Order: sequence, then C-alpha cells, then structure tokens
Amino acid sequence: MHIIPLKAFSDNYIWVIYSPDKNQVAVVDPGDSRPVMAFLEDNDLSLDSILITHYHKDHIGGVQALKDRYHCHVYASKHDQLSFADTELDEGDEISLFDGSYQFSVLHLPGHTMGHIGYYSNDHNLVFCGDTLFRVGCGRMFEGTPDIFHHSLQKLAQLPPSTLVYCTHEYTLANIAFAKTVEPDNPDLLELERNCKELRDQDLETLPSTIDSELKTNPFLRCTEPSVIETAERAEDKSLSDPVETFATIRRLKDNF
Ligand SMILES: [Zn+2]
Repeated sequence: MHIIPLKAFSDNYIWVIYSPDKNQVAVVDPGDSRPVMAFLEDNDLSLDSILITHYHKDHIGGVQALKDRYHCHVYASKHDQLSFADTELDEGDEISLFDGSYQFSVLHLPGHTMGHIGYYSNDHNLVFCGDTLFRVGCGRMFEGTPDIFHHSLQKLAQLPPSTLVYCTHEYTLANIAFAKTVEPDNPDLLELERNCKELRDQDLETLPSTIDSELKTNPFLRCTEPSVIETAERAEDKSLSDPVETFATIRRLKDNF
C-alpha cells in the first residue's frame, strides 16, 4: 500500500492512501481541505474516500468541502454521528477501499474521545490510529477514563509487533522529552531520540512507527515495566499494583509536563 503524508496546520499529518493503479486516493482525517485539493490537482488524482477517526475539528474540518467537490465516500465512527458520514462504523466492522483492493477492520478505541475508531489492515500490516496512540505518547484523555483509555491502548499493543502505526500528529520529540523523565535510562528511547532528531532536522516525519518500537519506548504502553511503575509510585508517594493506576499517573504527569 503506497501511503504518503500531507502536512496540515502546525503538526497534523493527513495520510494519503493510493489505489493500486495509483489513479485515485483515499485520505485519513483531512482537517483542512486545502492541502488535499492542492495535492489532488498537482498530481491529477481523484478522491475516492475519506476515513475519519474522530470528530475533532483538526481531523474533520476539510471533509465537507472535499465531499462537495469530489463526491467521495466518507467513513466515520457511528458514535460520532457526523452529518457527512456515508458509512458509520464500530468495532469489528470491515470496509474495503478501491473496489475491494484494500480491506480494513475497524477498532473502537475510546479514551481520547469516546467514539474514536482506528482502521487496521491485516493484509498490509498497518493501522491508522488518529489521536489514540502517538509515537512515544498517547492522546489527551478528553472523554475517557484511565481504565477505558488503557484498554484501547492495549488493543493496539496486541497487534503484531511489525504493524506500522500511522498517527495524526508530529509530537514525537516532545513525547520523547517527557518519556525520558519517566524512564531516563531506557536505551531504546535514547537511541530513538537520536534517530528522530536527525529526521526532524531534515524536516522529515518520524512516522510511521511500529508497535514493536512503541512497546520498547512508549511509557503509556509500558505500565507493567518496573521503571515506569517506579516513576508513577514516586509521583503518587504510594505503591501501585494496577497498570491502570500507573497509566492514570503517567497521563496526569504528561498533562502537567
Ligand atoms: Zn483529537
């Protein structure tokens, strides 16, 4: 599957999925229609479909204008009840793009918002996870509880380790700065920081990540690691026995970082 990022706002990526014959594309979370329209025109492509992960403005702001112009099919969470959605999706639903060329299964990933969904392709070994999982971080917990959000992140953590993770934001270096306060001695984290700094110095994206990389570096997926528990226990000044409690503490520390 050929996928490229378009930049939007200060740190959003709108992921573009090419059809196998490269004549059409689908886009994920077009918060702004302008970079998408410019890209389509420059490359003489038509827009077949739009995949939405959740209702936040920086993910859906461009949808109506794109739909009006290209008459594309819009997929979105059934929980979000968006007026422009042609197909409303929930956990376990399957969609196929470009006349059945690419299949995705829908994961319900509540926590950042309660209706948040992700799109997982088993065949192509990748997931579009919106603002649920970031490289070395996770989304703000606007609507969920620690229990709910932790469960969603675990659902992603259990995908095959080689799964490519396409998040919506370039937050990696800021997330690594925080993660180093949680696990200052994690060698994988320190190596990743060097690699990602090099990429950002060249104005390149640090995405996609992989589940394997996240399991080694992302404190929000490492709530059973002694080093992460220790940081959370120090912050709470008590012992923590449940990974959900550790997650809640690490999320709160990040909010105040
Ligand atoms: Zn969001």
